[in-house]
Amino acid sequence: MPSIAREAARLGVATSAVLAVTIAAPAQTASAGADPAPARTQVQTAAEPPKVPTATGSGGAVSSVDPYATRIGLDVLRAGGNATDAAVATAAALGVTEPYSAGIGGGGFFVHYDADTGRVQTIDGRETAPMGMPEDAFVDPATGQPYSFSDQVSSGVSVGVPGTLATWQRALDRWGTRNLSSSVRPAANLAHEGFVVDQTFHDQTAANQERFSQFTSTRELFLPGGSPPPVGSTFRNPDLAETYELIARRGPGAFYRGALSPEIVRTVQHPPTTRDATLPAPAGYLKRSDLTGYRVLDRAPTRSGYRGYDVFGMRSSSSGGTTVGEALNIMERYDLASMSDQDALHRYLEAGALAFADRGKYFGDEAFVDVPVRDLLSDTYAAERACRIQPTQAQAKPVPAGNVDDYDGRCSTPNTGSTRDGDTEGLSTTNLTVTDRWGDVVEYTLTIEQTGGAGIVVPDRGFLLNNELTDFTTTVYPVPESDPNRPEPGKRPRSSMSPTIVLDDGEPFVALGSPGGSTIITTVLQMLFNRIDRGMDLEQAMAAPRSSPRNTSSVVSEPAFISAYGTLLGAYGHQFASTPEIGAATAIEFGPGGSVTAVAEPTRRGGGSAAVVEPAP
Ligand code: GLU
Repeated sequence: MPSIAREAARLGVATSAVLAVTIAAPAQTASAGADPAPARTQVQTAAEPPKVPTATGSGGAVSSVDPYATRIGLDVLRAGGNATDAAVATAAALGVTEPYSAGIGGGGFFVHYDADTGRVQTIDGRETAPMGMPEDAFVDPATGQPYSFSDQVSSGVSVGVPGTLATWQRALDRWGTRNLSSSVRPAANLAHEGFVVDQTFHDQTAANQERFSQFTSTRELFLPGGSPPPVGSTFRNPDLAETYELIARRGPGAFYRGALSPEIVRTVQHPPTTRDATLPAPAGYLKRSDLTGYRVLDRAPTRSGYRGYDVFGMRSSSSGGTTVGEALNIMERYDLASMSDQDALHRYLEAGALAFADRGKYFGDEAFVDVPVRDLLSDTYAAERACRIQPTQAQAKPVPAGNVDDYDGRCSTPNTGSTRDGDTEGLSTTNLTVTDRWGDVVEYTLTIEQTGGAGIVVPDRGFLLNNELTDFTTTVYPVPESDPNRPEPGKRPRSSMSPTIVLDDGEPFVALGSPGGSTIITTVLQMLFNRIDRGMDLEQAMAAPRSSPRNTSSVVSEPAFISAYGTLLGAYGHQFASTPEIGAATAIEFGPGGSVTAVAEPTRRGGGSAAVVEPAP
């Protein structure tokens, strides 16, 4: 029986509900190494499922950036799987259709609300620096200076030990009802059958064409015939299908200890550059012992109050929870709902800058750095930080960090002074939100860092490696000891990913998250501000134009934001820089009696896809 039909039968759904296709069975053998490549030619692909940005109903819901992935997650829910089962299946599918944003070559952060216990818990699946990484790993020996940032990105040296597969396994062990094997099989089928190339996938490939063409394995997979796959064509990834099948048979051990591990190590240590490659593509230091030694970490979430809600986020190694929480605490000092747009947005912009100043000064991997989480999330500290905000005048940026060792909330202590301005994080990543009929919730952000990660596909395995180690401070050398985010062996680079679950009196109110590097933090913050203070429903809060206050002299903002508010806020001294779009978020809001509204982006990154198990009439 073809594997898709088998899966459908197991799930108890019609094959047509999974994928309306005529398929050829992928050949399967017991031995990973001996599996022949599946036939590519006898397969027809279903048209892209419709993209629905908002879905209302009950019985569970999925929101992701991709309609194939959302459909696979929904099928799992319909077949009786819970939110964790569906989240893992959706994430595996995103590894197929969003291979430049996420996949098993990367990492991420998984936040879970358990309806039975009312607890929010998290898994830190962040990539980790190899134990043998030297202090000058990012320095070009020829010049004694760091490689340029773009040369660092497309390299073996930027590859952190991937955490995604271990995250899936851990999440399923803690909260799932299905095993990893059945969770990756629908995605294996999708990789085998292919998906219809849309404009976003085409454009992302084209934007990476130059560097993808410098690695033999990447060129072969993503530039068939030397060009990006055309819009409307079918993109198949039989190598990834085989890799997922291998994982389905052997578990994550195939990746961390088994057949895949020497191949990953070889790829990092000897990036497969073409003969005429011009990129330096410095080799990395990843060893098999780094893969066998990798562990995801169960972490308590951050928790902060905002206008009666409890906001749970991700703590170290992500700065998301503390930075969103601190900014909210500062904003909570003001009655934003009764203010004009100009005055409320002014405070949002100033709060973001203040929280980012503290992120820069204090935040790094908690295993290496004493992050003052309690101070950063204290209301007294927020009151102290709010002292800097003038009613109608923007502060000069970058603003200095606060002093967590000396504050009383009464505007009487000086600031500590310097802070760093800006960062080099990519704007890639993907996010998904899932809930099930029992009321469990998953908010999961996963990434390979830049769009296209390190640009290096593991040969014949169908997935890209991450460049997450460029989230460390890598463009100066030597990196000052005082920098909490300096690269160190075994350390996790500072992240901005902010999967967030908000409870109202112990019950889910809204869950949300976004891609976008450090703009993730402000997208989550701004959506909460829009929803809670600005009278918008979730759909409006998602669609509203974004502005990303990250303590830079010009606030990077979408054109529609600048048109609507640039003049008003300019009068207070804010400056703006335009960017076409920020984020491609997903969210679910919870209503009475088990009703839910799942929301995806209406247009950003080509539009996302939301679905509910039982649509409202
Ligand atoms: N590397 C970033 C982080 O961990 C995410 C990259 C992105 O969103 O593009 O926060």
